[in-house]
Amino acid sequence: MNTPIKPIYVTQPHLPPLEEFVPYLEQIWANKWLTNAGPFHNELEVAIARHLDVPHLSLFTNGTIALVVALQALRISGEVITTPFTFVATTHSLLWNGIKPVFVDIDPATFNLDPNKIEAAITPQTTAIMPVHCYGNPCDMARIEAIADRYGLKVIYDAAHAFGVRYRGDSIARHGDLTVLSFHATKTYNTFEGGAIVSPDPKTKQRIDYLKNFGIADEVTVVGPGINGKMNEVQSAFGLLQLKHLPEGLARRREVDRRYRQALWSVPGLEIPVANPEVEGNYSYFPVRVGSGFRMSRDALYERMRSAGVFARRYFYPLVSQMPMYRGLPSAAPEHLPMASQITQEVLCLPIHAELGEAEQERVITIIKG
Ligand SMILES: *Cc1c(COP(=O)(O)O)cnc(C)c1O
Repeated sequence: MNTPIKPIYVTQPHLPPLEEFVPYLEQIWANKWLTNAGPFHNELEVAIARHLDVPHLSLFTNGTIALVVALQALRISGEVITTPFTFVATTHSLLWNGIKPVFVDIDPATFNLDPNKIEAAITPQTTAIMPVHCYGNPCDMARIEAIADRYGLKVIYDAAHAFGVRYRGDSIARHGDLTVLSFHATKTYNTFEGGAIVSPDPKTKQRIDYLKNFGIADEVTVVGPGINGKMNEVQSAFGLLQLKHLPEGLARRREVDRRYRQALWSVPGLEIPVANPEVEGNYSYFPVRVGSGFRMSRDALYERMRSAGVFARRYFYPLVSQMPMYRGLPSAAPEHLPMASQITQEVLCLPIHAELGEAEQERVITIIKG
């Protein structure tokens, strides 16, 4: 009998040694404080804020609830300009707030909202822009924020892919009216499930902290229609431990990124995004574009890989704008989104994670090279 080949997934969590987590659990058992701004929760809030170089941060049970609350906190309504090239949670958070998403095309160099196309999408109902730092590539924040300022719009960044990313030395999480993070198991930094909102000032953080706890301000006062978005003590403790191991994970991802670039730059028809020297990235994704000059289609390559146990992913296919709940919107028409519509047919995210060994990566590269 053949030994089954070990599957290679697009990502895999980098877990610390289990025995390192046990003392944290013992402390929770001793305290019997399981959630609601417990000691580990508060310690993690400070630690992540310091790590990201941001003034105020609120932890959440996951990134999607954080997005929903961010929109609530700023009372966003009407229409919000956003990208079709993202994970569904970005757009769903708008729908959960009764907001109409307005899709704008992406810039093929960064996979992010094209700032040249934002102004044409603004109407009297527009209240905000929700860009995504796709794959951890920083958006053109200066131009997006200049447009927002000129038209009096808010900016809420979905930075779910961009934990720890810096642009010209500056933490991207410091930008916009709010920045939302995800610590889901598949992200570079994870707390099993988790998320956060970065606020620019203590008043905004306070409002967000009320909203993530049902709107409760004190024992007898509920100040708003809040939700339950709290991060519990087990998640928070795990987050503290993960933060310690983040640098080694990042170093290994950087090495995987380097090996792909070295091995694949000359493959005909395969386009590898250029690394921007001004960006300190987090190496969370390795997207390639399988163009018409490649020897087979993107989907054929994807299937070839699957049959060899390599689970690359077509992030993001289909476009959010093609999903049943969005495709009827005028801004969802493919002619209105030519770049996103082309890239969704070509993109493939290759496996990249801290535990991807050189031999495994060689398996991926060999299939691509054919
Ligand atoms: C993962 C992700 C989210 C959602 O975060 P969860 O923590 O999984 O709820 C939102 N937006 C983008 C772009 C994501 O990739």
